[in-house]
Amino acid sequence: MLQSQLFTKTIKNTPQDETSLNAQMLIKAGFIDKLFAGAYTILPLGLRVLKNIEEIIREEIDNTDGQEIYMPALHPFENYKKTQRDKMDILFHTQLQNKSRLVLGTSHEEVLVPLMKKFILSYKDLPKAIYQFQTKFRNELRAKSGIMRGREFLMKDMYSFHATEDCLNKYYKLIQKAYFNIFSRCGILDKTYFTFASGGTFSKYSHEFQTVCVAGEDTIYVCDKCNLAINEEIIKEQSACPNCNNKELKQEKSIESGNIFKLGNRFTKAFNAKYTNNNGEQKDILMGCYGIGLGRLMGTIVELHHDENGIIWPNEIAPFKVHLILIENKKGTTSSKEKAQEIYELLQENNINTLYDDRHDATIGEKFADADLIGCSYRVIISDKTIKNKSLEIKNRITGEVEFVKTEEIIEHMTHNI
Ligand code: ATP
Ligand code: MG
Repeated sequence: MLQSQLFTKTIKNTPQDETSLNAQMLIKAGFIDKLFAGAYTILPLGLRVLKNIEEIIREEIDNTDGQEIYMPALHPFENYKKTQRDKMDILFHTQLQNKSRLVLGTSHEEVLVPLMKKFILSYKDLPKAIYQFQTKFRNELRAKSGIMRGREFLMKDMYSFHATEDCLNKYYKLIQKAYFNIFSRCGILDKTYFTFASGGTFSKYSHEFQTVCVAGEDTIYVCDKCNLAINEEIIKEQSACPNCNNKELKQEKSIESGNIFKLGNRFTKAFNAKYTNNNGEQKDILMGCYGIGLGRLMGTIVELHHDENGIIWPNEIAPFKVHLILIENKKGTTSSKEKAQEIYELLQENNINTLYDDRHDATIGEKFADADLIGCSYRVIISDKTIKNKSLEIKNRITGEVEFVKTEEIIEHMTHNI
């Protein structure tokens, strides 16, 4: 993409109405725009990042045999009476012209369970895991954490359906692994703890994936021996690690990046969703649910990966693989410009997504400052000087390393690095 054509611009001043670092940086760099607290427009750069995150999640979840669908955000209020979630304070209410009451979905048990009831008849139809990427609406009391606590936000929500507890437990473990893969590819694994949380009625614990970060709204207690943590609800019941009984737990601020929950028959009972077992008996279908907030994940990555100059995206997440920067000479001779255009086309032809800073009206300083702010992993600089040496200057935003690569070797070099 040509930077001169990008309709967004970077902003010099820190937005005054944002207290969270992730939103400040994302707004300054032109990834998001705030409509009101908890509602953001995702701009072209931000959408590219969210799509990268979405693709990582999709790949890892598809590996667990998840099947992707897309459900409506408008839900009949009736269904929430059935599950006794009609009094939830975060529900946004609305109605049809004929006065039928509706709510905007906060999650999708009330839609998916009646759907699956139509298709799951016998034990032969189980297990199944269904997921979607969809906008959730929650009337959150506070929305101070920038994109990490939206009132409207994108979530990957998945629900699994099982005949037996054993089958549910096995799938739950599989998802645990998939979540670690996702957080690893998003560059936050080393700070993310599998955290014991309260489990409700069906199982003793549910589990959160909590990422240690000073900006976090949550508090966890980390067991260094097991690399596990417990959350605030659990510390009230017990003061030791559930795995090794270690009492020396370290208190940390953290962000809930995801959570997984054994629901049992909590929702299937409400909709009378049963299957026939191999003895011909009717049994409640058992469920698990698994959520990750994509915007929250994007915000968490920014909180963990930045310096005073801007964002430092992990390579797989970055909006572009290469930020190509043309430094034009004062005389305005065109050799470097022509060469830059050539390199840009070559990179694109080789599927190396490139943001090409072709702007004439920006100084070198402005171009470099913008590149730091936007945070693509590789900055490729082309100028009369590099052309004279038949090379390109490549700077790695993550390590700060600078190297010079022969012009004809750029594709091989980048393909090797990405
Ligand atoms: P929290 O305790 O932070 O409110 P939650 O327990 O309500 O989270 P879930 O309902 O289980 O979270 O949602 C699943 C995932 O969706 C969370 O782990 C988080 O990643 C994300 N999420 C939840 N609420 C928000 C929000 N308001 N904005 C952005 N992401 C969210
Ligand atoms: Mg919540």
